[in-house]
Amino acid sequence: MFIQQQPIDRQDHLRKDDAAVAALWHDPKARVLPIHKGACPVNFDQDVLSLAAFPVQAPWQVSHAIYLGTDGQTPWFTIAIDDDQASNLTLPADTEFTDLRKVGMRINADDGALLTYAKGLCFWHENTTHCSRCGSQLKNIQAGHTKRCVNEACGHMVFPRTDPAVIMLVTHTDSDGVERCLLGRSPGWPAGMYSTLAGFVECGESLEQAVAREVFEEAGVRVNHVQYITSQPWPFPRSIMLGFKAEAITTELALDTHEIEDAQWFTRAQVQAFGTWGDPAYDYQMPRTDSIAFYLLSLWLNGSHTTG
Ligand SMILES: [Zn+2]
Repeated sequence: MFIQQQPIDRQDHLRKDDAAVAALWHDPKARVLPIHKGACPVNFDQDVLSLAAFPVQAPWQVSHAIYLGTDGQTPWFTIAIDDDQASNLTLPADTEFTDLRKVGMRINADDGALLTYAKGLCFWHENTTHCSRCGSQLKNIQAGHTKRCVNEACGHMVFPRTDPAVIMLVTHTDSDGVERCLLGRSPGWPAGMYSTLAGFVECGESLEQAVAREVFEEAGVRVNHVQYITSQPWPFPRSIMLGFKAEAITTELALDTHEIEDAQWFTRAQVQAFGTWGDPAYDYQMPRTDSIAFYLLSLWLNGSHTTG
């Protein structure tokens, strides 16, 4: 599902028009993606998986729904539902509530992008219920894309939040002209999986500074020539991964073992010999195919963004 087209027109100009949003909600063509504890109904009856969406139904209310936009035919909404609503929902055959993380490599691209959008907003709704200034409840406004404190004297407005994280392919060319990339692994990852280094952007630093800081903190390597490549929304729970490449100016590794349990320099031939994600026959495995890490590595393997 990586490098998605945006599957729908978000129609943000309609969000402040309550009557227009209500009319879309009552449109018989309207479809709702219910999200329960971060999971959405996914249909498993084909090799390429798809979402199961539903007509508007009781007890769902537009005041709790979020308008996602339109694909030209269908007004799309999402709504965070509780345990009772989830258990009372009649699912089609071969359909079950499933987290995007489990099906990201198998779901069709448009549905993956739509679910990424819906899942992020529902997480925000469920975890942003009270005003951080006065403690009063927050009320949905603007088709669920904004919340406002119900205390009139406060009126604090809250917006969905995305946490930026940088992820970087670090390379180095030695004196013999052999290029290597730096890959590491975190303790909690599936055995054998190696990937690009990554970390959250901190207050008061540029993205380029975050790349250089994270590589040095995790691996002890100094980098320069930091260049942006692409990005990927990553709603686990609310990040955006900002992909970079960078050149190493030192190569000796000094690992922060609290963050990563191993890191190594690999040639292209070595990475090309990696197994696919989750294949236990290989000691070294690529990242998930739906990740920006896989995309950055694939670009490097194809030689289309060699550094230097
Ligand atoms: Zn308030």
